[in-house]
Amino acid sequence: CAFEPGAIVSDACASYSTLDDLNDRLYPYVKSITQNTDFFSYYRLNLYNKKCPFWSEENGMCGNIACAVNTLDNEGDIPLVWRAQELGKLEGPKAQHPGREAQKKRPKRPLQGELGEDVGESCVVEYDDDCDDRDYCVPDDENATGKGDYVSLIDNPERFTGYAGAGSHQVWEAIYRENCFSKPRADWESSMNQSPFGGQAQAAQDLRSVLKAQVVQQNIQSAIAHNAEPSRVDTLEFEDECLEKRVFHRVVSGMHASISTHLCYDFLNQTTGQWSPNLECYEQRLHKHPERISNLYFNYALMLRAVGKIRQHIKDYEYCSADPAQDQQTKNLVLSLSAAIPAGPEIFDETVMFRDPSVASLKEDFRNRFRNVSRIMDCVGCDKCRLWGKLQTAGYGTALKVLFEFDEHDSSNDPPLRRTELVALINTLGRVSHSLTAIKDFSRMMEAKELGI
Ligand code: FAD
Repeated sequence: CAFEPGAIVSDACASYSTLDDLNDRLYPYVKSITQNTDFFSYYRLNLYNKKCPFWSEENGMCGNIACAVNTLDNEGDIPLVWRAQELGKLEGPKAQHPGREAQKKRPKRPLQGELGEDVGESCVVEYDDDCDDRDYCVPDDENATGKGDYVSLIDNPERFTGYAGAGSHQVWEAIYRENCFSKPRADWESSMNQSPFGGQAQAAQDLRSVLKAQVVQQNIQSAIAHNAEPSRVDTLEFEDECLEKRVFHRVVSGMHASISTHLCYDFLNQTTGQWSPNLECYEQRLHKHPERISNLYFNYALMLRAVGKIRQHIKDYEYCSADPAQDQQTKNLVLSLSAAIPAGPEIFDETVMFRDPSVASLKEDFRNRFRNVSRIMDCVGCDKCRLWGKLQTAGYGTALKVLFEFDEHDSSNDPPLRRTELVALINTLGRVSHSLTAIKDFSRMMEAKELGI
């Protein structure tokens, strides 16, 4: 397995060039699905109704818009319209999801015109489904008053917003801390039952103190082990961790790398006002950290495997019925994409995970930790970043659900795949796929720079 020469156990079994070649072939499908179909270019989520469950605004480290904006030292140099608050705002019309009562009164078919006259969206309403305990993500109506808004992903591309500083760092740190298994495995397993991570309804206060204690312990250990700055999350290596924990870290780090790639690739030059790739940004955040790029490729392999695995499940998937021609086109595109992905564990072999009986209980914990990552996304203090952060967490959550809960050959016992999950899955693959093309571009630019061209 050439994918990661340094891996203790192979986490994925495909080389960079194999994945690049695949991406060259598949990217046009993914792009067409995410850019040209109504079904996949609108996403429903609760962007405003959910409070950050992990810290409050009083502690001065909040993730709300005001705090995030205040932490930008040089924002005074940026014209008002480009400031983080402006760049982070959502664009375009939104449509509200009809509540349960409204749904009961309506016929069970897609609704037309929900997004307004000029949108041409006809296929955006999802009917409520019951949640499943095999979900890896928090369903977006948890603790929220409404079922959220439909937002256009085309009108709100993932790119530079200026969201930075203490607010964004606090979110990333909290996300990486979910992977903080600082105790030796035996101790950790015996204390699992009392772990506040084990249940879904843990009190935020308890969680905060546990997180705090864990990070202090881990930072100290990390500093000793690596002679590194205790607060840098990159220094948290996992050489002695089991495969499942390393996979968790790689997924999160790969998602972070993809977000960084997009903000560097679609970057605002504040002097010229032009949006263009920023090589310096790429160099600092990705090029100097090959392990982050490796984690991005890892995520590509994982996402591909998940989309390939739902081939049977989505064979008869109903997209909607309002525009049969577009439905058919959407269906053909998704099936073609899924069919073009090599079948079986050729690219990514999920069956090596959770196989050892001694780590059986880890699966539940893994799932709960991932759910916590999805809750942390409500702490992101920039609307566009929160939109894409929530979508991608849901996308990876869906991929993990497909990998670990779906049967490739017999879908009769598979948990349901909700519309939001399918949209998040394909769009997250789209994000990683686009990141791979951007990295290739950046690599060419780096070569040119090194040659002095
Ligand atoms: P950060 O990216 O904030 O990283 C913090 C620390 O994490 C780094 O110092 C490093 O030690 C470590 N680290 C960085 N990358 C990795 C990695 N791949 N793997 C492991 N460790 C790593 N900004 C935008 O402009 N547009 C967006 O769409 C956007 N979306 C965001 C979504 C979320 C969920 C969050 C939390 C933030 C988002 N941001 C976005 C902000 C952006 O991610 C950065 O936080 C910001 O640009 C500041 O970057 P930084 O260089 O200080 O380091």
